[in-house]
Amino acid sequence: FAVQAPDTRRWCFADQLGGHFLDAPDQPVLLVGSRAVFRRRRFHRQKAHLLLSALRHRAAELGDQAVFLQTDTYGEALDRVTEPLSVCAPTTWPARDFVLRRPGVAVLEARGFVTRQADFRRWAEGRSRQRLLMDDFYRVARRVHDVLMDGAEPVGGAWNTDHDNREPPPADGRSPAPAPWLPAEDEIDEQVRADLDAWEAAGDVAFVGDDGPRLFPVTAAEAEERVRDFLAHRLGAFGPHEDAMLADEPWLAHSMLSAPLNLGLVDPRELVHRAEQAYRDSVAAGDPLPLNSVEGFVRQVMGWRDWIWHLYWHLGRDYRHGNALDAQQEVPAWLADLDAEAVDANCLSHVLADVRERGWVHHIPRLMVLGNYGLQRGIRPLALTDWFHRVFVDGYDWVMVANVVGMSQHADGGALATKPYAAGGAYIDRMSDYCGGCRYDPRKRVGEDACPFTAGYWAFLDRNRERLADNRRMRQPLAGLGRLRDLEAVVEQEQSRGTDPL
Ligand code: SF4
Repeated sequence: FAVQAPDTRRWCFADQLGGHFLDAPDQPVLLVGSRAVFRRRRFHRQKAHLLLSALRHRAAELGDQAVFLQTDTYGEALDRVTEPLSVCAPTTWPARDFVLRRPGVAVLEARGFVTRQADFRRWAEGRSRQRLLMDDFYRVARRVHDVLMDGAEPVGGAWNTDHDNREPPPADGRSPAPAPWLPAEDEIDEQVRADLDAWEAAGDVAFVGDDGPRLFPVTAAEAEERVRDFLAHRLGAFGPHEDAMLADEPWLAHSMLSAPLNLGLVDPRELVHRAEQAYRDSVAAGDPLPLNSVEGFVRQVMGWRDWIWHLYWHLGRDYRHGNALDAQQEVPAWLADLDAEAVDANCLSHVLADVRERGWVHHIPRLMVLGNYGLQRGIRPLALTDWFHRVFVDGYDWVMVANVVGMSQHADGGALATKPYAAGGAYIDRMSDYCGGCRYDPRKRVGEDACPFTAGYWAFLDRNRERLADNRRMRQPLAGLGRLRDLEAVVEQEQSRGTDPL
């Protein structure tokens, strides 16, 4: 990475909007709004709104300190700039290639994560892909950044408290946390909405998903409100039901900080230290926050998020093309259109409706309903990655490649996850309240009311039995498959369902 003169104008991408992307609060800034980005792909309407609104709010906030160019392409904007620029390394392969090719642009080390790329490289050196374990990396990061540590040992004696964070939903069907802080829209949002309407009406762009009140922060001040609200009122309840799903409680106790983190509005280094401070203050006050909630949250931010970021670069440009399970189905139209009404399966229908309404569901509906569906039905991993990227407000290429190709679709042959995240209806039934209102029965695998996730699970195993035969963790499920008397009927039924709406 380059070295730059301290007063060089800093070019900030739309996901580098916080003060921590500048070297001094008064550093001159370049912001670019490119319309071509939205024309090329069909994004969720609320994602387009969030990105544009955040960029325009930042430009308004900086006033004369920023040059704000709204052009069709980045190239057009850059051609208008004659002074030298510096930029923190952007977050995708194509954007990095682009900035490195531009003359007069000093490319600096990436920011916006707890750990540095050079540190990850050193840690990963000499390790095989199978040994790049999140837990190992997270321990090192905790030690180096001194987060939730008592000397050389983790606070409470355990590095990972995940076993306490897998409880089913609360029996009363209510969220364990109070309602989250939500932002209020302003005149910039109004203008963004009018512009998006006009672009859509002109046939220039096409979106998917509902327009709706903006639910995620677009300024550092709004992000701060959400952080404060979460740390003060919701953090304590975060852990135990982190994996649970409730039809009428989409937020549960989740922080909803992924979008502002990924826009660069929150500095994750500061965030993890503040979560720790909240914990230590609560202990000192004699009313300790549950450690499993605090550690679980810290792990999401500096463990999982950083790890996924580093893997994006470490695994290389071609990683996205992995298709170890030879999944060849296209994303069906009803899924691409978020057409929840086309689907009878209650879990899938609810999750799709939530995505359509908000551009967000938490990690378990993503992994265990949407990802599980794609895995069972054999949807092309790259197409599914692209879909996740476009319809989630917090989705970026660096976020989705390892999460979808590796974690969710097992398309890397097991480099990231030791076994495929395929599950039948029993898992969804245990972890949600979806099955009670469903026309399918999670216990049935054949017949009119056979749960498509239960039957789909066995059909998936049958289709991949040879590919998974050497996986130690799949021995038991494959042995179960061998005992199924009705397997032929299950497979036939699921082949005829295919990727039709369930
Ligand atoms: Fe989903 Fe099956 Fe449960 Fe219906 S029965 S909600 S399809 S898991």
